[in-house]
Amino acid sequence: TDIRTLLLSRIRDVADYPEPGVTFKDITPLLADPAAFSALTDALASIAERTGATKIVGLEARGFILGAPVAVRAGLGFIPVRKAGKLPGATLGQAYDLEYGSAEIEVHAEDLAADDRVLIVDDVLATGGTAEASIQLIRRAGAEVAGLAVLMELDFLGGRARLEPALAGAPLEAL
Ligand code: 5GP
Repeated sequence: TDIRTLLLSRIRDVADYPEPGVTFKDITPLLADPAAFSALTDALASIAERTGATKIVGLEARGFILGAPVAVRAGLGFIPVRKAGKLPGATLGQAYDLEYGSAEIEVHAEDLAADDRVLIVDDVLATGGTAEASIQLIRRAGAEVAGLAVLMELDFLGGRARLEPALAGAPLEAL
């Protein structure tokens, strides 16, 4: 089977989660399958190599699970982008709007250098709000965005179109 079929077969649809009417894409069956998890890690690591990334940024929380083994496999450092209030050092923060209210993400800016090219890794691209804020955060930290790589893109939510201006030509790869 090709990788797309393998990965899709390990993603579980959970109806009415986290609220009625929403179908949640649950990646835990994929994580529990060593062949699928390894194939996913390889595919993301080859995107890191192709885009010339020098660092992997993972978005809390599933972007940590996927991004960390990708960093190790590609021989790159890993940087967590966390929800506000979780990082102990000096942080740079970026707020973004949710359907109701807003959220904020943070990074340890000193872990990014001006000559870094960052590949952002997450599991699911939905509306693109989280990814957009992380792109802004990385730029404000002085680094360059090499691209955004996700396992799955929910294309009916329009995240790709929303991210086009922020990505400014950097690739968005959805496996
Ligand atoms: P966005 O900001 O693009 O609307 O939402 C993306 C963020 O929410 C990602 O960090 C992703 O982990 C999480 N997310 C949204 N919908 C889903 C889903 O159906 N499945 C999973 N696994 N994560 C989701």
